[in-house]
Amino acid sequence: MAQQEAEATPRQLFELLMQAPAMIALLHGPQHVYELANRFYMEQVGQRDILGKPIRVARPELEGHGIFELLDQVYTSGQPFVGNEMPIELDRQQTGQREVCYFNFVYQPVRDGEGVVNGILVHAVEVTEQVRRRQKIQESESRLQRLVNSNVIGVSFTHLNGAIIDANERFLHMLGYTRDDVAAGRLNWSRLTAPEYAARDREALQEIKRDGAVSQPYEKEYIDKDGNRIPVLVGGASINATRDEIVTFVIDIRPQKQLERELRTAKGQLEAILQNAGDGITVHDVEGHMLYVNEVAARMSGFPSVEAMLAASSEVYHQTLKRFIVKDEDGHLLKPEDFPGRRALREGRSIQQLLHYYDSVTERSFWSFIKSQPIFNEEGRAQLVVNVLVDVSEQQALEQRKNEFISMASHELKTPVTALRGFTTILQRRLSRQGDEQALHYLSRMDRQLEKLSSLINELLDLSKMQAGTLAFQEENVNLTALIEEIVEDIQGTTTTHRISIEERADIRIVGDRDRLGQVLINLLTNAIKYSPEADRVIVRAVVDGEQARVSVQDFGIGIAEAHHQQVFDRFYQVTDPHEKTFPGLGIGLYIAQEIIRRHHGRIWVESSKGKGATFFFTLPLAKDVGQTTDRV
Ligand code: ADP
Repeated sequence: MAQQEAEATPRQLFELLMQAPAMIALLHGPQHVYELANRFYMEQVGQRDILGKPIRVARPELEGHGIFELLDQVYTSGQPFVGNEMPIELDRQQTGQREVCYFNFVYQPVRDGEGVVNGILVHAVEVTEQVRRRQKIQESESRLQRLVNSNVIGVSFTHLNGAIIDANERFLHMLGYTRDDVAAGRLNWSRLTAPEYAARDREALQEIKRDGAVSQPYEKEYIDKDGNRIPVLVGGASINATRDEIVTFVIDIRPQKQLERELRTAKGQLEAILQNAGDGITVHDVEGHMLYVNEVAARMSGFPSVEAMLAASSEVYHQTLKRFIVKDEDGHLLKPEDFPGRRALREGRSIQQLLHYYDSVTERSFWSFIKSQPIFNEEGRAQLVVNVLVDVSEQQALEQRKNEFISMASHELKTPVTALRGFTTILQRRLSRQGDEQALHYLSRMDRQLEKLSSLINELLDLSKMQAGTLAFQEENVNLTALIEEIVEDIQGTTTTHRISIEERADIRIVGDRDRLGQVLINLLTNAIKYSPEADRVIVRAVVDGEQARVSVQDFGIGIAEAHHQQVFDRFYQVTDPHEKTFPGLGIGLYIAQEIIRRHHGRIWVESSKGKGATFFFTLPLAKDVGQTTDRV
């Protein structure tokens, strides 16, 4: 029984070895022939047929790792070898992919009865997992260390009791402390934190205890060594398992705060300027929401104040705006979609318009000049519109009085001048009968002056009619070519200095007011002569371009600088140049010409540069074929 037990023990021991979760093998002889390998060992080498083979043959993959040499050394010296975390590249899955594995192992020499070494017992435990885990921790520690040392942000390590155990340069520099202060324990949370942030910090601490970290960085103020407040953004996390040490990340936000302050001041100033501006200012988005309104605009819109306007429900808002009947300059009712702001957004350009507002509640009315400027986003789409509303009622009233005066004065002047011209004709007849040549000469000069005077009066009369919207236009078939020839002949008769030539004369028929179109031609031709005192010719061209007739009058005179090209068509606008002689005139001829062409659905413009002469063009739509057919019938 006892013997049975004694025999069983080595057997059990053997079994134990064979089942052990460590790699165990017995190598025999100087060639280290595998005599035995336990199950775990076999698994690790990939169940290869290694028994009975020398290790160099059985496991060629170990070549180059110094393993064979080590075994030889243990065998010959009889000294055991203990390896620690020895890296070995293994292809366990037999996929051709080797991976580094780590082993702790013992090569124990085995001796025979005489004490001579005849084999080696290999005992190896794989520690790959542990090594990798440790490497990872080391890596992340060194990463943290690098982060701390990089000094990009301030970092401090605080104990739960508030003592600051360590901090990086950035942190210390920000608050004016030194490393010695840290070592002497002079830094602690309560000393650094402005009292009103204590509660927020405690909240953060609770969060760290609960979740391990602060979810959202927050703003607070530190107090530096000299007692100054330093605005910072902080975040924190616990860094050990017991969560009694906290790492705090700190970003100095003084520059941002300074910027914020400046922005606030600038915004405040801008706001003050906009609110106190004499003009109304509003800002709308594409959906029509009002984003901004100043006091003047709120009042103009019928609200007692900005607050009242912004607080108004959409119903009250629209009800209030409905009080106003809005018309354009020509007296046409303005549709909501045609308001300058809406158009500016739709058309993506600046719109200016003079509008007349009638408040049906107070029965007061006013004129407002509105300028709407779209503001574009990065893709170039209009996003907002800024409207500037200027109350021009006073100017309009003045304008009205001026118009009334012009109208009255020109009417009053017309009668005596007409009478004077009548009398000169009678006188002329009489004097020619008497054959008084000298008196006749003076009389004809007088008559020329009277003619100029009456044409000025006529211009003024036309202007006031235009203003009042009572300038009538005929609609008749006009042979434009014939009209041009006739007018050129008339004007040629009044000048000895210039020769007017028609260089192109297409056969042009249009529908319109013959006299008014003649007036346009007279104006262009007399201007061409008047503004080219040094030149001797004027060229007229009449061509057909698609559906349009295009007439041009070219002179070789003083020309008009680009900047005035638009303005010369404005009422009373005259280009003045101190270096040039002044030309007589009222500055309304081109204004009237433009109005006449506009009423004929045409366009008038000038091409010129200073000193290079000027060419005035106008276009008119050709008469439709239908009209001409009727003509022929
Ligand atoms: P005015 O009675 O002053 O001629 P217009 O309305 O006919 O008034 O012209 C407006 C202004 O345009 C003129 O005062 C002049 O400065 C300029 N202008 C008109 N035609 C010419 C031209 N052919 N060459 C140079 N300047 C011109």
